[in-house]
Amino acid sequence: FAGRVAIVTGGASGIGAATLRRLASEGAAVICADIDDARGEVLAKEIAQAGGRARHRHCDVGNLAELEAVVAFACRELGGLDIMMNNAVYSGGGWVAQIDPAEWDKSLRIMLTAVFYGCRAAIPALLERGGGSIVNTASIEAFAGEIMASPYTTAKAGVVNFTRNVAIEYGRRGIRANSICPGIVETPLYAPMQKFSRRTRSELEKLHAIGRLIRPEEIASVVAFLCSDDASAVTGHAMVIDGGLTAFLNLSGH
Ligand code: NAD
Repeated sequence: FAGRVAIVTGGASGIGAATLRRLASEGAAVICADIDDARGEVLAKEIAQAGGRARHRHCDVGNLAELEAVVAFACRELGGLDIMMNNAVYSGGGWVAQIDPAEWDKSLRIMLTAVFYGCRAAIPALLERGGGSIVNTASIEAFAGEIMASPYTTAKAGVVNFTRNVAIEYGRRGIRANSICPGIVETPLYAPMQKFSRRTRSELEKLHAIGRLIRPEEIASVVAFLCSDDASAVTGHAMVIDGGLTAFLNLSGH
């Protein structure tokens, strides 16, 4: 990724942070775009200390102007933009008849509308460089429902199909767009999600073909592949990275 510039939203933590570390370790200049300035600044320093080029920019992805400002920063300060990962998350939850409509709106805004905002802001800059790569973070919950998670499952399903649209509209102009669909990844998001679950950790692990949960670095390595020239024919794809969770019905309970 030498000479390439990447923005990752929700980059201060979890999957986003692992991706920034990975892309920077392979030579990209990276920008963490997040509302958590304290963690974003610490991460940017850590990457710089390891010899990488990294900056943090405050950005609420629910606001198009803030995303446009981060893209403008990349173009002004780092010379352009090659990789855009729309990855930030906020989700309300609960039984459908009890979800506060304002929580629904906020969840869809941060998980789905913001992905549109991120692409809308990034595409002109990517076209300036003759193309680039977009990765939008969906989930395996794009493909099936989950109790008390309807804002999440709905937004993530939208991310998968929206990404296909970006791929088909801009593929001939050099932009590839893919979504990633992680299974259960051990990040700070995972612990609060557990309040909606009746399963113990060991039960969750047994749902995976690999017999364990996924590490953020294992998602980052797939994102690095998708953003690399090795993936030059991969676009419009929804890449499942779930340790075999969706391959495994486990009706036998083994
Ligand atoms: P995380 O909680 O570790 O990180 C999310 C980041 O998003 C945080 O740094 C937070 O500050 C930032 N953020 C929240 N609201 C924001 C906003 N309005 N603007 C900018 N940044 C904002 O979560 P994670 O597990 O790394 O999740 C990253 C992505 O992966 C999300 O899209 C999530 O839905 C998806 N995902 C996670 C899992 C999992 O099991 N962890 C599984 C499937 C998909």
